Amino acid sequence: MGLSTKHIFITGGVTSSLGKGIIAASLAKLLQSRGISVTIQKFDPYLNIDPGTLNPYEHGECYVTEDGAETDLDLGHYERFLNAATSQDNNVTTGRIYNNVITKERKGEFLGKTVQVVPHITDEIKNNFYKLGKDGKYDVIITEIGGCVGDIESLPFVEAVRQARWDLGPNNILVIHLTLIPYLSAAKELKTKPTQHSVKQLLEAGVQPDILVCRTEHHLPVDVKKKIALFCNVQLNCVIEAMDADSIYDVPLLMKKERLDERVLSKLKISSKTNTELEQWKDFLGKLKNPTMEVDIALIGKYVSLPDAYKSIIESFIHAGTSLECKVNLHLISSEEVNKDNVAKKLTDMDGVLVAPGFGIRGLDGKLEAAKFARENEVPYFGICLGMQIAVIEFARNVLGLSEASSTEINPDCKDPVIFLMAEQKDITQMGGTMRLGAYPCELVKGTKALAAYGKQKVTERHRHRYEFNNKYLKEFEKHGMIASGKNPDKGLVEIIELKEHPWFVGTQFHPEYKSTVLNPHPLFVRFIKAVGEYKQNKS
Ligand code: GLN
Repeated sequence: MGLSTKHIFITGGVTSSLGKGIIAASLAKLLQSRGISVTIQKFDPYLNIDPGTLNPYEHGECYVTEDGAETDLDLGHYERFLNAATSQDNNVTTGRIYNNVITKERKGEFLGKTVQVVPHITDEIKNNFYKLGKDGKYDVIITEIGGCVGDIESLPFVEAVRQARWDLGPNNILVIHLTLIPYLSAAKELKTKPTQHSVKQLLEAGVQPDILVCRTEHHLPVDVKKKIALFCNVQLNCVIEAMDADSIYDVPLLMKKERLDERVLSKLKISSKTNTELEQWKDFLGKLKNPTMEVDIALIGKYVSLPDAYKSIIESFIHAGTSLECKVNLHLISSEEVNKDNVAKKLTDMDGVLVAPGFGIRGLDGKLEAAKFARENEVPYFGICLGMQIAVIEFARNVLGLSEASSTEINPDCKDPVIFLMAEQKDITQMGGTMRLGAYPCELVKGTKALAAYGKQKVTERHRHRYEFNNKYLKEFEKHGMIASGKNPDKGLVEIIELKEHPWFVGTQFHPEYKSTVLNPHPLFVRFIKAVGEYKQNKS
């Protein structure tokens, strides 16, 4: 295209949770379909260096990139929509910014100057805004600013956006503000005032939004749009309606209908070369909305009160299920509510069981019971990370007769540590960013379900864990029918286990859910759902 990278900033106002990540991903998808190379980055206003240490109850899932960054879950949306990888540089927090600045200060790099929010913090923010654009790989970078305008925390980011206008110059930067138009049912009216106020807040910070994307439950009549345009100082055709959608995957097409991409291209003076009709995307949506079968799968985990904690797994089921024209009804069941006496009752209507990733001891027994139930009753089972470790412990206890088998995460002094701390983890004292993180190769064994799913012998998958299968016990496991069907070729670590004599009982030490996208559903999820469908058919 021969142009330097252009920047789109997306801010949010009125309330949080308006779906900036989905709007960013949808816009990126539309630009991508026009032959424009685009990536998305997220700037989060909290002080943690990264979300790796955040409780999933509070913040939802921690998403892991190929290069091993622990990131905000919005990066998962970016990858799922764009079918392209993100990296450490795509997620920056206030904590990281301050850490960088303070490290420089300690090195004496500021040459005796007083280090201040403006310009030092804002300079560091801007360096990070521009970083991904350095090698000319992207025509457009979309930057999502986390939080709401007006929050104390977001101020330096908004100030950096204001300054970026001067760095980048006209036609190279665009600010999209996502806002809410609430509907007062008593008055039967859509209200624009909160939007006016939130735009005022941006204006006070010196930032005039170019486009307003207005979340709403009702269509915006022209007079409402006119009012918003007038009071917020934007062109009428730049007031974009964003109606609530049935599925997040509808949003790119809704935004296309509203011509968001056209407005963006015209404002940034970009002429797109192609304009593909998003055929594959539409095909996906068609199947998503017209399933020919449905199955019920239990997801057993301890963070079920906040489904966002399992975002990537939930989306992976949508991708894989849709590819099979199968609606997956996912039942989130708290592992703390499952026990020996009620497990059969809780799982009896389920066609498959997934034991989720997790940390710590809470809810462990429920997970073990669920794995046992699935193993003994030939119910398809998929264990991810901790879910794989659980399957191993359960098998050791109840099949190998090692009644005290456990993971050293749960009991550091257990007699049979079938899951134990990886050698490289032993001396680690700092918690943040020190797990086994990111993509590692895995080699699959011939004749296994894992190989049948992937259809190739060498794969790479993303990890996030400290503990691993203890190879000392492998022979014993294999003798009794639980085999290692995937191993790390360099270190021999067991990455996938499966039961030989079971229709589909597979556990992965890695997280397949991080690699599932709309256009590339993950083969293990596809195979699992297939097995679940077959189980359901045989049941009836
Ligand atoms: N707690 C386990 C470990 O650290 C599993 C982690 C996970 O499920 N992501 O190995």
